[in-house]
Amino acid sequence: MKKFAINPKRCDRSPYCAVRRECPSRAIQEVDGVFYIDMNVCRGCGLCVKACPREAVEESAS
Ligand code: SF4
Repeated sequence: MKKFAINPKRCDRSPYCAVRRECPSRAIQEVDGVFYIDMNVCRGCGLCVKACPREAVEESAS
């Protein structure tokens, strides 16, 4: 399964985050204003990569 991560340097932490809306698994979580992908529920579909207008979601190596 592919793995993805949110690059905090690109993410603008918008309350209207398109990635949060589009993720079918509701895997985008937030702690202290920082968004991250909960890999316990992510299904590796990759929709988040296309959904982010800031290209903040990247495929991770591990
Ligand atoms: S890969 Fe799919 S399930 Fe995982 S965070 Fe992205 S949109 Fe959600």
